Amino acid sequence: MNTACFAAWIEEIARTVHAEKDRLTRLDAAIGDADHGANLDRGFTAVSRVLAAKQPETTGAMLTMVGSTLIRNVGGASGPLYGMAFRQMGRVLGDTPDVSIAQLCTALEAGLAGIQKLGAATEGDKTLVDALAPAIQALAQSVQDGVKPEEAISAAAAAALAGAEATIPMLAHKGRASYLGPRSVGHEDPGAASTALIFAALHAVTT
Ligand code: ADP
Ligand code: MG
Ligand code: MG
Repeated sequence: MNTACFAAWIEEIARTVHAEKDRLTRLDAAIGDADHGANLDRGFTAVSRVLAAKQPETTGAMLTMVGSTLIRNVGGASGPLYGMAFRQMGRVLGDTPDVSIAQLCTALEAGLAGIQKLGAATEGDKTLVDALAPAIQALAQSVQDGVKPEEAISAAAAAALAGAEATIPMLAHKGRASYLGPRSVGHEDPGAASTALIFAALHAVTT
């Protein structure tokens, strides 16, 4: 994946977040404060604007820009968390011109570590970690199995989606949804749903 490929991914995230804004907000209305769709749409619209003005020259600079722009423009927990993840990915990729699936996997692992350092959520807490962690595990497994990049990304996108759906019966232990206690059960976590969208967008631009 080169900078153009990352730019296409980011544009596709912006497009799908905008298209799915109301669904994300509805999910957040059930167990949060009904702003997740609006938060991410504001963030990725700002990212698109920056990208349109000037495309960063390296894959690392591109992802760092995404992270910083999200932190600046997204109010709410998801801004700093996703922002941190993209910034960590940017740091790991640096000026790598052509990012392999193994390198993408390493960058995503650093992104997840950043999210967990900031938000202290582990798998099972009903957060975006429940979609991100299995997606990375699927990607790592694919790298180990030596499957084609398209198949690896397809497996990661499927795992993220399954991970998001698996948050429905969970009891929330982090974020606003945790204030609801047992009433958080029976609803999909909005952040896990947006993480699934991010991987679906990657799948859409790489196949
Ligand atoms: P806010 O809750 O501040 O309104 P958003 O609605 O934009 O922010 O984002 C909510 C999402 O953020 C949740 O659905 C969850 O996935 C994620 N989230 C919240 N707190 C944490 C945390 N400590 N660790 C990981 N993810 C979290
Ligand atoms: Mg919210
Ligand atoms: Mg909010």
